This record gives sequence, C-alpha cells and structure tokens, in this order.
Amino acid sequence: MSAADPTVVVVGCGVSGLTTALRLRRLGRTVRIVADRPAERTTSAVAGATWFPYKVDPPHRALGWTAASRPVFESLAASSETTGVVLRTCVMLHRSPLGGAPWWADAAPDLALLGRAQLPPGFADGYSFTQAVIDMPMYLAYLLDRFLAHGGELLHARLSSLTEAARYGDVVVNCCGLGARELCDDPATYPVRGQWLRVDNPGIDRVLADFDHPDGDAYIIPHRHSCILGGTADENAWDETPGDEVSARIRRRCTELDPRLAGARALEQRVGLRPVRRGGVRLELDTLADGTPCVHNYGHGGAGVTLSWGCADEVTDLVRSLGTDIDTPPAATGGTS
Ligand SMILES: Cc1cc2nc3c(=O)[nH]c(=O)nc-3n(C[C@H](O)[C@H](O)[C@H](O)COP(=O)(O)OP(=O)(O)OC[C@H]3O[C@@H](n4cnc5c(N)ncnc54)[C@H](O)[C@@H]3O)c2cc1C
Repeated sequence: MSAADPTVVVVGCGVSGLTTALRLRRLGRTVRIVADRPAERTTSAVAGATWFPYKVDPPHRALGWTAASRPVFESLAASSETTGVVLRTCVMLHRSPLGGAPWWADAAPDLALLGRAQLPPGFADGYSFTQAVIDMPMYLAYLLDRFLAHGGELLHARLSSLTEAARYGDVVVNCCGLGARELCDDPATYPVRGQWLRVDNPGIDRVLADFDHPDGDAYIIPHRHSCILGGTADENAWDETPGDEVSARIRRRCTELDPRLAGARALEQRVGLRPVRRGGVRLELDTLADGTPCVHNYGHGGAGVTLSWGCADEVTDLVRSLGTDIDTPPAATGGTS
C-alpha cells in the first residue's frame, strides 16, 4: 500500500494497542486494529490493575512512560463511572530496609516514606503514594468505545507475520504482547504467570502490598464492589488454569495484611501471562522485510497499564516522524518479518 494519507494498522487490542490506536486517531491518522483476541480475552483484561511499574525494564525509559501516564489516569478518574479508574492511597510494606525511595519515585509526587511508628509489626520500611486503580474489563471497553466512536476500525484476524499485517495498512504498529515470540521471532519475550483471587470487599479502601512475604507476593487491590487479592509471578509458566490451592495461599498471605479478608466470599480466580522481555520494553522504529515501516511497542511485563499512555505518546511521535507521504519501498534486508 502507498498513500498520501497513510493508514496505520495496530496489531493487538490489549491496553497497549487500544491506547496507541486512540492517540494515533487523535493525530488524524486512519487507524485499523487487527487482533486475534478481543479486548476482554487479552492479558490486559486480567491485570489487577494499578499504576505501578512492576517487573519492567529498562528503568530510565520506564520512569518516563510511568510519569507521562500518571496525569492521564488522574484525569480519567474524574469520570470513574465510565472509565473504571479511581484514585486510592497505596501502602507498600517492606521486610528489610529500603535505603531510600524506590527508583520510580520521581513519577509519584506525593510519595512519602513511612516512619517506624506507621509500620505494622514485622516490617522494616514502607512508603505510601496516590495510585490509580483500574477496573480493566470496564476500562478496556471504554477505550474500545472511544476508538470506534472516533472512527477507528477493528478487525479480528490471526496474523502469522508482521508483513501480513502490512496488507491492512501503510505503517504497522506492533502491540502484540507475548505474541512477539511468534510474530517477531523474539525469544527474549517470555511469560511471567500471575494468578489472583477476587473476593467481596469487606470495607477496604486502600491498596496494601507486601512483596517480601516469604511465601510469595501479597497485595490487596480494592475495587468498588470487590477486592483483588494477589498474587503470583512464575517465570516461563504457560498454564492459564487457576489453582485452588494457589488461591488459598494468596488469601492467607493477604489476610495477614488485613484480617477482614478471612471470611470474604470468593467470587472468581484468574490467571494471566505477563509479557516480560529480557532487555526491557521494545519501543522502536523498524523496517519490515517488505519495506513497510513498523513501530514496535511490546514487552511491557507487569506494567503495561502503567506505561500505556507514555508509550502511546512515544509511538505517536515515531509515526508522526515518518510524515504522511509514505511510499512502501522495495523489500529491505534485515527487517523483522
Ligand atoms: C495477574 C496480572 C496482574 C497485572 N497487574 C498489572 C498492574 O497492576 N498494572 C500494570 O500496569 N500491569 C499489570 N499487569 C501487566 C499487564 O497486564 C500487561 O503488561 C499488559 O496487559 C500488556 O498489554 P499488551 O496490550 O501489550 O498485551 P495483551 O494484553 O497481551 O494484548 C496483545 C494483543 O495482541 C494480539 N496478538 C498477539 N499475537 C497476535 C497474532 N499473531 N495475530 C493477531 N493478534 C495478535 C492479541 O490478540 C491481543 O489483542 C498484570 C498482568 C497480570 C497477568
């Protein structure tokens, strides 16, 4: 394809694809999403989700994307009934001294280290900050509605290569998550399996986390009518079936943080595969084997929601840098097919 008004094809309709597609529509581009899984069946739909840069690299880029996303979530929280985004206080507890603020503290202006008197028994350090909590099924539906309402197009198709995606447009934006193993032949991308349990909310209104628990992560994410209790992080585990014993152990860990959870009615348990990438998020301009320009945006690990708006802005800048008069050149060498 070749055009003075190039069509951008976005591969993927998880949080990365939808957010990027929305930004590209705002740039005035014709945008078409192609995905084999609908939004509600993506990893993104299983995220907890909070604004927090967990299991993601490289820190210097992740910090910028995290910081850029924060004000967008803050403004989305003003319409929480439609967006599913609310702001909550988050308390992070640590069993050994941190030796200072976390690496991403510059992205959280109200982050405050806790004094000894504010820490529960057994904890040596901690901090609190305001955090966006996102109801992902509702939020993804909101993003998709906005994309379609602004003239975006959504196609369901399974792609066997990125050059196949180029049949749908003049520029490819690749937001395929774990699908990069196949679509980009990128073995550096691998799953980190996460399981959580949803229970009735017994009145909890702040996020509470202990990532130093000897039995595994413990975090409580209060949503409006329920709490998500996490979690697990199993490297290179592909099984998407939740286990009852895993959920029982998650509940025990979280009940240590808040005893009200002991009797809370269980509602559902879910598993998702975080798209972690050795070397960190791949966000860069590339040329496919047939010469089509491609911007990659995948490998967001445990922080795809947190980084989403910052990454979408950077992708949009790269697409803008290509100009509007894109001629698909003859097949180039060295590109990703
Ligand atoms: C349990 C759990 C908790 C999490 N909690 C948080 C959190 O609190 N905060 C946070 O920021 N992040 C969190 N994450 C991480 C977050 O969910 C991911 O980083 C994010 O969802 C990645 O989004 P994505 O759009 O890049 O990928 P996905 O959501 O995986 O979407 C990929 C898209 O690409 C499409 N695709 C792939 N291959 C092909 C192909 N061959 N052909 C066509 N389409 C294809 C798929 O259909 C899909 O639409 C959590 C993850 C898990 C599992």
